[in-house]
Amino acid sequence: MAAFPVTERNRVKREHERGRYDRASVFAILDAGFLCHVAYVLDGQPYCTPTIHWRDGDMLYWHGSSASRMLRHLKAGASACLTVSHLDGLVLARSGFNHSANYRSAMCFGTARIVDDPQEKALALEAIVERYFPGRQAALRATTAQEVKATTVIGMRIDEASAKIRAKNVGDDELDGEQPVWAGVVPVRTVVEPVQPSPRLLPGLAPGADLDAYRPGRELGDVLVELQQAYGQRPVVAA
Ligand SMILES: Cc1cc2nc3c(=O)[nH]c(=O)nc-3n(C[C@H](O)[C@H](O)[C@H](O)COP(=O)(O)OP(=O)(O)OC[C@H]3O[C@@H](n4cnc5c(N)ncnc54)[C@H](O)[C@@H]3O)c2cc1C
Repeated sequence: MAAFPVTERNRVKREHERGRYDRASVFAILDAGFLCHVAYVLDGQPYCTPTIHWRDGDMLYWHGSSASRMLRHLKAGASACLTVSHLDGLVLARSGFNHSANYRSAMCFGTARIVDDPQEKALALEAIVERYFPGRQAALRATTAQEVKATTVIGMRIDEASAKIRAKNVGDDELDGEQPVWAGVVPVRTVVEPVQPSPRLLPGLAPGADLDAYRPGRELGDVLVELQQAYGQRPVVAA
C-alpha cells in the first residue's frame, strides 16, 4: 500500500521521528479504534465532536442524527480532520518535564460530504453493523424508511494523513538518572469484558456468532483490526 503524500499540513514536525505516512500504519490505528473525533470550523468557531467511524479503503464514514449541527454543516462539503488515538502507557520520568505517554494516533484530512446516493447510503448503514458485528444485519428488524431519513451519513476520502507513535520507556535527561525516584512505564490496555444481557431479552437467547471475536480479556484493538480485515475481504455481492 502506497504512502499518503506528505505536505505542509500533515508533516509531523515535533518529534518527527515518530511520524509515519504509510497506509498500513495509518489504517492500523484507525481500524483499532471504535471512537474518533471529527474537527471542523463553523462560523469561525472550532468544534471537535467524538463519534463512531468506519473505513472502506481510503474512505472514512461516520453518521448521526439528521438534526446534528455537525452533520448539517459537514454535509455541505467542508474541510474536516478526523483523529483516532490510543493510550498504551503512562510514562513516569525523574522530572515532571519528561513525563509522557505511549500512544498511537492518526490524523486524517479531507473534505466531508453527505452520502445521499440511496444505494451507497444503504450500504454504509449496513456496513456500520456488519464491520463490527459480522452477520448481525440478517438477524435484525429491517430499517424503516423513516429511520434512514433521520440518519445522515458523512463520507470523507482521506487526502492526507499522518500517524504518530511513541512506544518506548522513559526519556530522562542523562543526569536525572541519579534521582532517587521510581521511573518507568505503566502499560494501559482496553480489553473486552463479559457481556451484560438486555433485561428484556427473550428466554433462551445467547450471544450469536456476530460476537465470537469479542471474547472477554481480548484487547479491543486486536478484535477491531481482525474484523476490519475480514470485512475488507468480504465477497462482493453483485448489485
Ligand atoms: C495519548 C497522547 C498523549 C500525548 N501527550 C502529549 C503531551 O503531553 N505533550 C505533547 O506535546 N504532545 C503530546 N502528544 C502528541 C500530540 O498529539 C502532538 O503530536 C504534539 O503536541 C505536537 O503538536 P504540534 O501541533 O506541534 O504538531 P506538529 O508536528 O506541528 O503537527 C504537524 C502535523 O503533524 C501531524 N501530527 C501531529 N501530531 C500528531 C499526532 N499525535 N498523531 C498523528 N499526526 C500528528 C498532523 O498531520 C499535523 O497537522 C500526545 C498524543 C497522544 C495521542
